Amino acid sequence: MSDFVGVSEILKSSRRLLVTSHESPDGDALGSMLGLGLSLEPEGKEVEYYNASGVPPHLDFLPYRGRVKSVLNEIPGSFDATIILDCTDIGRVGEEFLTELETGRMGRTVIIDHHSTRVPSADMHVLFPCAAATGIIVFSLIKYLELEITSDIATSLYTAIVSDTGSFSYENTGPEALRVAAELIERGASPSYISEAIYQREPISKIKLLGLALPTIELSEGGDVASITVDGTMFERTSSGRADTEGFVNIPRSIKGVKVAVLFREVSSSDNEGKWKISLRSKGEVNVAAVAEKLGGGGHERAAGCSIRGSIEHAKENLFDLLREELGWKV
Ligand code: 5GP
Ligand code: MN
Repeated sequence: MSDFVGVSEILKSSRRLLVTSHESPDGDALGSMLGLGLSLEPEGKEVEYYNASGVPPHLDFLPYRGRVKSVLNEIPGSFDATIILDCTDIGRVGEEFLTELETGRMGRTVIIDHHSTRVPSADMHVLFPCAAATGIIVFSLIKYLELEITSDIATSLYTAIVSDTGSFSYENTGPEALRVAAELIERGASPSYISEAIYQREPISKIKLLGLALPTIELSEGGDVASITVDGTMFERTSSGRADTEGFVNIPRSIKGVKVAVLFREVSSSDNEGKWKISLRSKGEVNVAAVAEKLGGGGHERAAGCSIRGSIEHAKENLFDLLREELGWKV
């Protein structure tokens, strides 16, 4: 709790706040943003919500999602403080934010996060790497500040926890995540409504994209590493976008014996050389955050990501070399 003293002083002394998170937000990023912001508004705080990628379709049920703006320029004026949630690296908020940061209008910056990779880039950091979701840290902060948890806030924070625990199935699912979730249900979150909203409203384009991606599944010789690949032509053929690859990495991960699952997703690059966004998931002992960090990315021990420039062959070779090293040490 002592970790909340500094941030609570900043929140109390601020009149106008910006809450934000990383690009391509997941349920934890947006749920934490909305949960924190909505709890502060009844205190007379003017809160603006910003995410460079906006709200993806599978999260377009979140309360007050219409408040989330994706262009900073459309939010005039200056802020006393900016709270960055679920994002340790300030650069991941996006290019526009970095540019605006230099003007000084963002005020003091506070990072609230549960990622283990620390990049000391804000004025203040509230880091709890053991928390299963940033939403759990926000829940504790709201309690610390003695603010009310309305059903909208409960829905936002429950979404955050469900998203980051894989519906209470990953290793980070423990008594704390379940206790906080139970209290959020008591305060109005509906588990069936939220799960259906997140997982049972897939666009047909996503299922078609999956159909094209499935044949790309590859298993390493020893069966430790499985990968799936989505390239630009697959997006074009199915009229789908990057949000449609959400959850694809869980397919190689579900294969028996696999220790590390990988999703290679092609992203547009200015130089035509190719760029691959990589999602890593660990089902065993391998610390995939350590591997991602070596490639300039980061994340958690069991879920991490990074990017590699160049051809898919180059990306695979680069990543698999590092994974082999990591697997060699561990098994
Ligand atoms: P995902 O594979 O779902 O995009 O990301 C898994 C985890 O890794 C998330 O916690 C995410 O924040 C983190 N992550 C993904 N890509 C990057 C990256 O390029 N840099 C950093 N620092 N973290 C990443
Ligand atoms: Mn998170």
